[in-house]
Amino acid sequence: MDGMIENSIAARDIRYLVHGSVDLARQRQNPPTMINGGKGIFIFDENGTPYLEAAAGMWCTALGFSEEELIEAATEQMRKLPYYHTLAYKSVTPAAELAEKLAALVPIENAHLYFALSGSEANDAFIKFAWYVNNALGRPEKKKIIARKNGYHGATLGSASLSGISANHKLFDLPIANILHVSDPHYYRNGLPGESEAEFVDRLVGEVEALILAEGPDTVAAFVAEPVTGAGGVVIPPAGYYTKLQAVLDRYDVIFHADEVINGFLRTGKMWGSEAMGIRPTTMSMAKAITSAYMPLSALALPSWFYDAMERGSTEVGVFGHAATYAGHPVSCAVALKMLEIVERRNLKAHVETVGARFKERILAFKDHPLVGDVRVIGLMGAIEFVTDKANKTSFVPTGSFAKRLRDHAEERQKLIVRAVPAGDSCAFSPPLVITIEEVDEMFDRFAKALDEVTAEVGA
Ligand code: PMP
Repeated sequence: MDGMIENSIAARDIRYLVHGSVDLARQRQNPPTMINGGKGIFIFDENGTPYLEAAAGMWCTALGFSEEELIEAATEQMRKLPYYHTLAYKSVTPAAELAEKLAALVPIENAHLYFALSGSEANDAFIKFAWYVNNALGRPEKKKIIARKNGYHGATLGSASLSGISANHKLFDLPIANILHVSDPHYYRNGLPGESEAEFVDRLVGEVEALILAEGPDTVAAFVAEPVTGAGGVVIPPAGYYTKLQAVLDRYDVIFHADEVINGFLRTGKMWGSEAMGIRPTTMSMAKAITSAYMPLSALALPSWFYDAMERGSTEVGVFGHAATYAGHPVSCAVALKMLEIVERRNLKAHVETVGARFKERILAFKDHPLVGDVRVIGLMGAIEFVTDKANKTSFVPTGSFAKRLRDHAEERQKLIVRAVPAGDSCAFSPPLVITIEEVDEMFDRFAKALDEVTAEVGA
């Protein structure tokens, strides 16, 4: 706690509050930056210093940090009805309206919507529901779920098991049984020397098919993936990957569950990552931008055959035995309805297309930097991957150390918040969707300065 005032809020924070995604021991010397305010794409620390938030918090505050219409929607709903549940033959209007609205938006016919509070909880519910449905359909052995290395799906027992990041498993006794992982479709990192993109696609899809056959198609229920991987480094699979993958999944009657928690609501430039990537998802989870993160909310979209099987199961048991106090929370749902109204009224899609073009141009320009190995970009989501040697794609040691150093430097010196992703050595950008062209320039100008300064420090 060097230099920290003993009784400061940051000192009290680490004395009492348990944080995630930190080295807990290092945090004693490195207390958190306390964030006390926000306006547009900027946040303010306790001294009032503004930071340009290039990560939209955790890839989530789509409308920025001061959208009055969302605040009003929450306030109005709180005055009318701050809480009621959607269990045991009761419901609330905002939840019913939001389910109807989302059913019209998702690329799933006759969709039914389940609401929860976080991306983790939606993905966890997916696992439970898929197991329930296969029991109800009389195929109780069809339970295994295939996910991908470096995918991220959440922190709860089931969703953390789906995640393919080792730090989410080690010491936690995860993954749980029946979760399998296949290779990450990150061509730059995982393509073999001399292997073309088409060959890479065939190899990875072949791996999925071989796994399904080895396990037995009758035991495999679902394949789970983020259309574009977020935390794993903004990985955009090569052309043809999803088409070929879906053909395999269809052949063995395996559900495609698209995790749209980051991708959904225009992050990729399309409403859904599935749309951007040409996926026909069977089921989908979404969260984050659904309320611009102003209230906790997630959703799981299910096709009618799946819902019908849930109904059949509940008839057998006498009740659908899955309940959550806050499922369909009226304030969260009212904020989500307002968010979706704003997306349409302000034509946010056209805005993302316009600023996305500048975003792409600016981020791709970093390809010329001597320490940049790869740049990946789609919509308003991008990553820059660092290497010590471009020709051999050699990573810094330990892997990830350069991106973390750059992230810390950018925050301290340039007042710019970027994410150092937990997989690989990349800095990720996912600014609020309302960012302007001038702000895109400002963001990358600050980043370029930080990169030059850190490059000079490491003597490259
Ligand atoms: N899925 C994806 C793709 C995510 O990025 C995240 C969170 N970053 C989650 C699921 C989990 O969401 P939450 O943190 O809201 O539980």
